[in-house]
Amino acid sequence: MPVVVKDWMLVKGVVFRLESGLPSEAKLLLEDFRLAVNNAIRAGLQARVTSRNAMVKIAYKDFRREHPRMYSQHLVSAFEVAGNVLKNHRKRAREGVTCRIPYVMRLLMKAENQAYKLDRKSGVIDLPIRAGCHVELRLVVSQYHRKYLDDMALCLGSLTVLPDRVIVAFRKDAPKPFLPESALSLDTNERSLDGIFVEGDIAKAARAKFPDVAIIQQRHHDRRKGLQKKKAHDRRTSRNLCRTEGAREHHRIDSRLHQVANSVLMFAEERRSAIVLEDLKGMRPKRNKELNRRLSMWPRRKLHQIIEYKAQWRGVPVVKVDPRNSSRTCPICGRIRYSRMGAEFVCECGWRLDRHINASINLLQTAISKGMAGGLRFDPGAFQYDVMMILYEPAMAARSEPNGTSGVVEVT
Ligand SMILES: [Zn+2]
Repeated sequence: MPVVVKDWMLVKGVVFRLESGLPSEAKLLLEDFRLAVNNAIRAGLQARVTSRNAMVKIAYKDFRREHPRMYSQHLVSAFEVAGNVLKNHRKRAREGVTCRIPYVMRLLMKAENQAYKLDRKSGVIDLPIRAGCHVELRLVVSQYHRKYLDDMALCLGSLTVLPDRVIVAFRKDAPKPFLPESALSLDTNERSLDGIFVEGDIAKAARAKFPDVAIIQQRHHDRRKGLQKKKAHDRRTSRNLCRTEGAREHHRIDSRLHQVANSVLMFAEERRSAIVLEDLKGMRPKRNKELNRRLSMWPRRKLHQIIEYKAQWRGVPVVKVDPRNSSRTCPICGRIRYSRMGAEFVCECGWRLDRHINASINLLQTAISKGMAGGLRFDPGAFQYDVMMILYEPAMAARSEPNGTSGVVEVT
């Protein structure tokens, strides 16, 4: 679940399964909540308002009559959910996307932190349904969940109840990033992060490999194309099938990107490293459509997002620099190569290095020259060509919980 910054607060949603299914009262509450949200959407559309307070003003009394037994805090929360749906609807309309009146199909309810109680020791949620009626939700608590439940620096935020699971939001003030003692500079590519790790006088190449992300993307793209062709006569079915395919693809890639980010973060935390990344914001798509899709920027941007929010949560400093010419510049003499090159960057001055790792050196030097990497420096003479630190590779996915000895050193 994503972490978002809200007024310097970090929020992380943690998913819990329930020990036994949802009690029947809670199921009914989910249905009532959905009804209230959809009613509020219609009322909000009619009155042209989207804010929770405005909707409370125009619609609370009527709803109270229709849902006399619903706990009032839940009712207000339904207005809030409806407001968010309407805001998205309005935004899409502004962008010129034609869309129907929104209708929430999904069974879901949200409760603010005053509207439920969670016993952090036992993992039991006390959820009020209506006056005199509460239900208990027993959460399945694993070691992963304990980390959040036992950390008293985290406060409880909202609770989202779904038919088969609940999501508890944990909040904390963003920790101050530590002062870096080393740096891990990473160039982001289609199948790997390639970079260098610099600590004192030592500089080593480092790499996190995720070849399967591109493979999964390719496979799903082919499958989607096949579906579109096969169901060409039925656009609705074709669209629905493609949507399911897309969600599955998303999920697979996402989980791999999280693993990669975790390995990088664990390494950086252990070595007290600042992470240097290229700023992908300005990168413009190329003209060739096929190449464009294959080199889709999406997983890279997503990977950066994940690394950045995990870093924020743990107080690891992240530096982002302009990547212009980073893959073409010689870090020793400063010459820029405009001609095409192969896997290796070769300079007239005699410097030669893997193209991607060379790019990461340039990123680091930009960060240092702009004073963004503390007092760190990089001496190319200290670069150890023969050592490659593997931060992540797909074989590591087999391990359920990454262990503490990140940075397997592989001598090539
Ligand atoms: Zn050179």
